[in-house]
Amino acid sequence: MTARRDWLKNAATLGAAAGTGLLLGKAQAQASSATAKPKAAAANATASTASAASTAAPTPNTRTWQNWSAIHQCKPEQWLVPADEAELAAALPRAKAPLRAVGAGHSFNPLVPTVGTLISLDRLSGTPVVDKQNLTVRVGAGMRIGVLARALDAQGYALYNQPDIDVQTLAGALSTATHGTGQTLPALHAEVQALRLVSPDGRVHECSRAKNPDLFDAARVSLGALGVITEYTLRIRPRYMLRRHVWLERTEELLARAPELAAKHRHFELYVLPFTGFSAGITHDEGAAATAQPPEAADENVLRDLRRLRDWFGRWPALRRWAAARLINPAQTEAAFDWSWRLLSTSRPTRFNESEYHLPREAGIAGLREVLATLEKRNEVFFPMEFRFIRADHAWLSPFYERDTCSVAAHALQGEDYAYLISELGPVFRKHGGRPHWGKLHDLKQAELQALYPRFADFQTLRRELDPQGRMLNTHLQQIFGANHG
Ligand SMILES: Cc1cc2nc3c(=O)[nH]c(=O)nc-3n(C[C@H](O)[C@H](O)[C@H](O)COP(=O)(O)OP(=O)(O)OC[C@H]3O[C@@H](n4cnc5c(N)ncnc54)[C@H](O)[C@@H]3O)c2cc1C
Repeated sequence: MTARRDWLKNAATLGAAAGTGLLLGKAQAQASSATAKPKAAAANATASTASAASTAAPTPNTRTWQNWSAIHQCKPEQWLVPADEAELAAALPRAKAPLRAVGAGHSFNPLVPTVGTLISLDRLSGTPVVDKQNLTVRVGAGMRIGVLARALDAQGYALYNQPDIDVQTLAGALSTATHGTGQTLPALHAEVQALRLVSPDGRVHECSRAKNPDLFDAARVSLGALGVITEYTLRIRPRYMLRRHVWLERTEELLARAPELAAKHRHFELYVLPFTGFSAGITHDEGAAATAQPPEAADENVLRDLRRLRDWFGRWPALRRWAAARLINPAQTEAAFDWSWRLLSTSRPTRFNESEYHLPREAGIAGLREVLATLEKRNEVFFPMEFRFIRADHAWLSPFYERDTCSVAAHALQGEDYAYLISELGPVFRKHGGRPHWGKLHDLKQAELQALYPRFADFQTLRRELDPQGRMLNTHLQQIFGANHG
């Protein structure tokens, strides 16, 4: 098996070659060894909330919170880390606003920062309860996706789909409409069968399709604006193995085949490698249980090599493309076979900032092409772009609300400029009918969002009923839901 992520054959040699003029000869050298460690998905799990005080009652705070990519910080007056729902319900009416729930802090937008009370459900993540008859699991909203996936696997069950990483909390992921890829598979929140939410006045609300259906459709994707979700009941299925296939192909050829590949495979996605003319296709399909053939995780090698190409040839795009064409070896493929949770989510040791928009399915490829062309006007860009497929659902603020979708994501290395992801890509995404990922960089305000979401006004009505004083709104949410931003 070849590690798929060693695409650029020995880019280190290329560096030496660039200095000596021996580029082509050196480029034929042996592929560099895969140095990336096997995935350790839980490693990031405590990235942002580790500093939460572990006491139940609000305590004066001396600690600073920051998100995963470290572009948002706050020093709340209090942390609230309740041991159970009753404690949360008793504390919320008295807690200092803005009241903001925090998960794993993996959102790129300032959804979480507050000078008031930061609420962590790290202690509401106890043992999941599987209902074998109805194929559902009842689980605390503070549980991490990966912890749930492992617990389900131990009992012979699995989630239908997973995002790229699994360290997010369920509530954080579902509240921002986190998704994986698969033309027939919806985002994670579409698997919610019931949930419990504590509104800022301390009332506990239960909802499902049958009970309180409006709240159910509003709360599944609600950015922490309606209250604090304490528990979910999710649809699950018997555990399953997936076969992964990864290959490299000319971007134009792969884009031409993308609709057919998305229709044929349970999961299909592609990564465009900017300034190379190449993309990677990735499929996962269900296979009968057999001996696992785990993947060799080496995403980091690709990032390292693409970055080197940028660092050495960034100022000369034509030379960069020429070098990439000689270094990328399209004959390399990767195969793996393992339990679904082991393949669908990996780890992301290299930190970055990201913007992702969800485009109507039919606009996806044209949108991707234009975003790529816009990105390639900037020589500093090297991060791969991600292109995925998601099925429609009915949650009011779901970016997939009643439309099948293609999502297009662009990234910038942590510490490098990312403003252009918003200012330059945003208009292109919007031209193609895109709705922004709630957890990823965008600058849309209330009026623009209202135009994109047919049920936005209904959500607002319900939000005002549950939180008439707007105690759940921080500065970012004021711009989305606040009275002065209509
Ligand atoms: C490396 C990386 C990879 C990613 N991959 C994907 C991907 O493949 N697909 C995808 O769609 N997204 C992806 N994301 C985005 C990520 O899934 C979302 O931003 C998600 O919201 C993060 O979850 P979290 O637990 O960190 O929540 P946070 O960022 O801490 O919070 C997100 C929102 O949820 C709210 N919230 C948290 N807990 C509660 C609660 N108990 N009740 C009510 N509201 C609550 C918060 O108030 C906030 O509004 C990725 C992000 C990173 C950094």
